[in-house]
Amino acid sequence: RLVPMPASTPFDSLLRRCKISTPNAFAFCRMIGKVAVVTGGARGIGAATAKLFAENGAYVVIADILDDSGTVLAESIGARYIHCDVSKESDVESAIQLAITWKGKLDILFSNAGIGGTASSITNLDMEKVKHLISINLLGNVHAIKHAARVMLGCGTKGSIICTSSSAGIMGGLASHPYSLSKAGILGLMRTVACELGVHGIRVNCISPHGVPTDMLVSGYRMFRGDEMTPEQVVKLVGEQGSLLRGKAATVEDVARAAVFLASDDAGFITGHNLIIDGGYTSAIASLSFIYK
Ligand code: NAD
Repeated sequence: RLVPMPASTPFDSLLRRCKISTPNAFAFCRMIGKVAVVTGGARGIGAATAKLFAENGAYVVIADILDDSGTVLAESIGARYIHCDVSKESDVESAIQLAITWKGKLDILFSNAGIGGTASSITNLDMEKVKHLISINLLGNVHAIKHAARVMLGCGTKGSIICTSSSAGIMGGLASHPYSLSKAGILGLMRTVACELGVHGIRVNCISPHGVPTDMLVSGYRMFRGDEMTPEQVVKLVGEQGSLLRGKAATVEDVARAAVFLASDDAGFITGHNLIIDGGYTSAIASLSFIYK
């Protein structure tokens, strides 16, 4: 199947540069005929990943609460859109079922929907806000994995489940307490589910981005710093301070490419893994980097 692609994508320009005819483009596609559900796929990291999944030959179901942008994106990449609040188990079940009624199977779940938390001391946490965040960021993943695993097991699919954790699930001090708690919880959930589903050949992994200038990150910076930073200023700041690759901030495409890798057969022996996309931020303290100047 040739994937309907928007007029100009990085993939198109690669084909032109390498003088590759469209039929031979199959050789570049890593997800031909795979069926994927992407939660939180209407914008940011999820949207970039839904797009790259489609460019790699996958049939994609975008599940989100942003109906307008989700529908527009789905139409532009030949995907399907469904309204889905991941905190509601029945919504998530419907999103998974859409993949089954549309294409008869599910190969990939990218459980990515999430919200940022509000800044607050541990002594003043508003427990209703904490529960709300956990219902989306953590229980949303439980709902998605539960229903994806059911259909994968039912169809005998050796699928790939990918959840979005965060550098804030590994290190302290990078986000609010409830957000960090939810992201650390996803890592625990991923590891324990990988044990059970690995028996059936289903791989379960996490990606952990850091400092990707999306709407979530920009509003997070504004909340914690209390000023009106522009997206450009956030990109600059993250590039200066957010990785060992000085001057480079992560892009949504950096994360999407990692998700394609974990979704594809190239990662066929990788499960129970947390793929950190942070430019080395969580691996080293660059306080002595002046040595290398
Ligand atoms: P974003 O705000 O651009 O995208 C989040 C998406 O999730 C949106 O489309 C939003 O509508 C959707 N969403 C929110 N609540 C939902 C709900 N209840 N049900 C369904 N969909 C819902 O932010 P992003 O940066 O693209 O975030 C994507 C994921 O990456 C999140 O899980 C986030 O925690 C994680 N993450 C982001 C960064 C970063 O630096 N941007 C770093 C680490 C992890």
